[in-house]
Amino acid sequence: MPPAARWKRHTEIINKFCHAKTDKGAFVNIYESLCAITGRDYVSREKEDTYIYSRDSGAEPPRPVDYVVMPGTVEEVQRILLFANEEAIPVTPLGGGFTLSALVVPQKGGIVLDMKRMDKIIEVNELSRYALIEAGVSQASLRAYLKKHHPRLQHSTPEAPPAVTVVGNALIQGHGHITPRYGLTSDMVNGMEVVLPTGEVCRLGSSAVTDSWYTRGPIPDLPGLFIGWFGTTGVVTKLSLKLYPRPQYREVIVFSSDDIDAIPEVIFELTQLDLLEDFFLITQEKPDWMNHIFYVVILSAHFEEELAMKIRIYSDVAKKIGNGKTIKVVENLHPALYKRFLDVPPQAAVAADFRKGGGFQYSAAILSFDKVPACWRKGIEIAHNHGMVASYVHQVLTCHSIMFGFNYSFNRADDKDIAAARQAIDESNRFILETEGMIWKGSSEAQKLIMKKMDPATAMLIEKIKKAMDPRGIMNPGNWEVPR
Ligand SMILES: Cc1cc2nc3c(=O)[nH]c(=O)nc-3n(C[C@H](O)[C@H](O)[C@H](O)COP(=O)(O)OP(=O)(O)OC[C@H]3O[C@@H](n4cnc5c(N)ncnc54)[C@H](O)[C@@H]3O)c2cc1C
Repeated sequence: MPPAARWKRHTEIINKFCHAKTDKGAFVNIYESLCAITGRDYVSREKEDTYIYSRDSGAEPPRPVDYVVMPGTVEEVQRILLFANEEAIPVTPLGGGFTLSALVVPQKGGIVLDMKRMDKIIEVNELSRYALIEAGVSQASLRAYLKKHHPRLQHSTPEAPPAVTVVGNALIQGHGHITPRYGLTSDMVNGMEVVLPTGEVCRLGSSAVTDSWYTRGPIPDLPGLFIGWFGTTGVVTKLSLKLYPRPQYREVIVFSSDDIDAIPEVIFELTQLDLLEDFFLITQEKPDWMNHIFYVVILSAHFEEELAMKIRIYSDVAKKIGNGKTIKVVENLHPALYKRFLDVPPQAAVAADFRKGGGFQYSAAILSFDKVPACWRKGIEIAHNHGMVASYVHQVLTCHSIMFGFNYSFNRADDKDIAAARQAIDESNRFILETEGMIWKGSSEAQKLIMKKMDPATAMLIEKIKKAMDPRGIMNPGNWEVPR
């Protein structure tokens, strides 16, 4: 690059990345201001650092990031937000960054607030069964901590990479291995500490009134202002999560079937018993032996006799559904699959067809059971139209709904393949909405589709809440925006 052009580029970069004009017309040096808050070691604007934050492992295109900051305390989060609010700099909170729908890749540049340094497990209350944790605590570290110090307790663990955060999972209404029994991770939230974009630190749940974090009510349900909002209303710094008894004995029963239309009835009958711990459906077109509908039921118990009884009951149920013709018990489950299904979390997705190049993306729908056959057929059609092998893992969430994953694998080194995956995701999202399903953790494009279909009065309410909480629109802008 000739020196003049290089200098012009350098000036552009300095202006864009280092300085912001204040309301009073003076320039502030953003980088130095952030360093003054957290120390130099925890701020970066270097390409080799921002590169990794400018993309996620899904099929969404990369987007530029100006600064990455890793706060160590709630006071630092507070000062960063006060500063960003003053200078109107976008802030995107990040936990593990594994939604695959690029929710933590900023739409409008600015600061990525990486919460991983705030990783303390502050308290485990064994008697009232909850854990108070900081926002950066990973699923794996909470699981290991409980196993070591509180072996009779467990938390609901998603089948996501171990580095994902517990807070990230709760905030996107995620689901773990005991969801069918106890509900979504967001239902397990007792309370939170949050920093508002305008700098106030608030406690929600019983901790707002007492020194204890054991219940969410009975006061106005404010955690809902942060759950499902994709970081657009504030930063969660602490969260109290419900823990549950950890049974000693577990077993897996797998049923197989080829009847797509019978899926709603089978799910209804298997969940009607109210005895299972986890329940998912898998299939895959290749290899041939996987090309069936597999119902994977995980049973758990505190006593051997209890487990034996549950196994017997579930085996008998198979004989009753459709007069014993709809599903049958898989007698010789491969030992490797048996172990993977019984792992906590289960490793159901490893059965999926991962193409050369390692890319994997899914569009997820929360569906009522009656919509599953239509989505099942459509997912296969979309996969075939894009030259992919159809492959599914769906977790039954509660006895009311299912997380239906339209899975697409692609080669990261092949732009055409990535474009096909994006197209397949977009088609799936449109179909989900047409079928009266709900898109889960949708990308900004999917959010636009949702907002278009949303009742305008509801969309206006979302806009009003965001404006009240984040008057300068600094929090993860580009998400949950009302289309104009
Ligand atoms: C292979 C694979 C399997 C998966 N399986 C499951 C599964 O079984 N169940 C499931 O639920 N999910 C699953 N996921 C999806 C996802 O990885 C998990 O839900 C994960 O727990 C999300 O947490 P995270 O830390 O990665 O969140 P992030 O991606 O970091 O954040 C999610 C959202 O929350 C916001 N956010 C994060 N932290 C804060 C904070 N402190 N304050 C305010 N906002 C914040 C972010 O801005 C973003 O909008 C899977 C993903 C993969 C790749």
